[in-house]
Amino acid sequence: MEKFLYKYRKEKILWNIALVYPEKYSTGMSSLGYLWVYHILQSISWVNCERAFYSDGDIKTIETGRRLNEFDAIFFSISFENDIVNIVSILKKSGIEIFKRNRKGLPLICVGGIATTFLFNYLKYFSDFIFSGDAEIILPKFMELIKNKTNKEEINAIFEDVKYEGIYKSEGTNNYLPYYSAKDIEIPHSTIISKEAEFENTALISVSKGCLYQCKFCFVSRVYGEYEPFDFNEIIKTAQKFNGLTDRIGLIAATLSNHPDFEKIVDELNKIGFKVSFSAFRVEGLTESFLNKIIENENKTLVIAPETASLKLKKFIGKNIPDELIFDKLKIACEFGIKRIKLYFIIGFPNEEEEDIEAIIDFIRKTREIARINSGRSVIITFDPHPRKVIDGVNSPKMLMTLDEKIEMIEKLGMKPKFIQGHRVTDKETLDVVEMVLGGLVNQDIVTLINKHGGKAVGLTGKDGNFIHAKKMLVPSKEKAEELLDIGQVGEITSIDPEIIQHLDARDFIPVVAPLGTDAEGNAYNINADVAAGKIAGVLQAEKVIFMTNTPGVLDKSGRLITGLTARQIDDLFADGTISGGMLPKIASALEAARSGVNSVHIIDGRVDHCLLLEILTDAGVGTMIRSH
Ligand code: SF4
Repeated sequence: MEKFLYKYRKEKILWNIALVYPEKYSTGMSSLGYLWVYHILQSISWVNCERAFYSDGDIKTIETGRRLNEFDAIFFSISFENDIVNIVSILKKSGIEIFKRNRKGLPLICVGGIATTFLFNYLKYFSDFIFSGDAEIILPKFMELIKNKTNKEEINAIFEDVKYEGIYKSEGTNNYLPYYSAKDIEIPHSTIISKEAEFENTALISVSKGCLYQCKFCFVSRVYGEYEPFDFNEIIKTAQKFNGLTDRIGLIAATLSNHPDFEKIVDELNKIGFKVSFSAFRVEGLTESFLNKIIENENKTLVIAPETASLKLKKFIGKNIPDELIFDKLKIACEFGIKRIKLYFIIGFPNEEEEDIEAIIDFIRKTREIARINSGRSVIITFDPHPRKVIDGVNSPKMLMTLDEKIEMIEKLGMKPKFIQGHRVTDKETLDVVEMVLGGLVNQDIVTLINKHGGKAVGLTGKDGNFIHAKKMLVPSKEKAEELLDIGQVGEITSIDPEIIQHLDARDFIPVVAPLGTDAEGNAYNINADVAAGKIAGVLQAEKVIFMTNTPGVLDKSGRLITGLTARQIDDLFADGTISGGMLPKIASALEAARSGVNSVHIIDGRVDHCLLLEILTDAGVGTMIRSH
């Protein structure tokens, strides 16, 4: 159920705009930026703005249930890099050509939101216009400029020779768009209260802009400019508008406790009859008095972001909060009754070394001890990989951890692997970490390396755009012939929808796929990477698929490398037991790819320098080539 704060007066509608949040409804309806843009557009009397969100089914607007291709313009609001994949999927589902160069008329595709400041070089392929700045100023300006225009040529002509701050035609190359920050803006606040939002029935109110701190990796302080706390009276006046609509106010800021009137604001809101939720604090500002207010307002979770745990990286990123201070504050918080602690860490900073990962693991262990000793509740851990380029002037990591090293890291987090008949059991908790490692760390490392060497890589998992469909894999029991064993969230592929890969490929992007899939109910599964690669190659009818491994290739019975194999020879090697152990899934996938029409399949020794070039371009080769015939 939704409750609206404002009624909007309308005249003759000149522009119908679908405002899309490329994530599910509950997430979008908890985004203050998204709700505020809705309000800004709806406040224009000749604009009809309707909301839409990403979903597995058809994408239709909430207000009238219309498809997006029925609108004059589609505005996307993006907060995170990953949202781009959903934008592609939404356009496709809506029957709209994804690439700008192939679209002729309306709808106009525009993208705004904090993530546009550093995503220009990706967004420019999909969008006609990109906004970077405060929507209060940019959107009314943009709409006024295009008010009486009815086609794209006329609209483009307006921006041919004149530049408008914060409005960018999506052409050329731009690594970083300046953010157009306005002064003396109205306090952004929710305009719709929803029971189904992540922050259920909560009115969100921004209490400040920017951040007092200047942590080097974080673009909050860079993008928004100087820290600006909003006026106490204005905040209270804004909150009073919600009387009768909700009894919970969520205060939003980069660091709430920096507001000079923070305690006064909470006291006043409590006096009016509101309970208050809080976004984020700098841990130094967590006084006993603040903690009391957090608890009195029925908040159970404390969110803090140490980002990293080693002194070296703390200094490097410019957020050097001593561990002892954080632990002291956490102890006090648990004594006050905080039930859950959520920590945010970033992995992948330049110059990160193994000892830095170890420091995070130690930090988490200590936090767990503190939380258990004092409140008996467990700790939630969220790893948040972040583009390295945000730290100016430093581009390359010294260390690239291998998958094995990162898996070892998972085990150090305390989740010892269980095995059933030699298969590793993946429980729900482990799958979360697998997603983090495969979808986040490893994927981003590979993407970064490819991009560093001039490629255009995009990281995605089989869950993105729902392109790898899977079902739970059941393993026949060795003891009871008819029994099938459940090994948890391990999946087998049922089908692959290659469109997202084809679209990226058509624009010369290099998709880097983490092998995760989902079933019809949305359950996620970990899938063998060789199997996923083989199936994707087969569906794409690829010319080649190459499996890199840490052995020389397929060996015969006397241990000599077999440089070439046909599908029939492989069947023989399976039958006589020459191929066994870890090579089995690799060869089975290679064989399936070859039989599905992939012209040649290579299994090569990834430890050899230039192995790819040697295998493909020379006669010598460094592994085994498999052909379908
Ligand atoms: S990391 Fe937090 S404290 Fe540092 S600049 Fe960003 S928002 Fe401010």
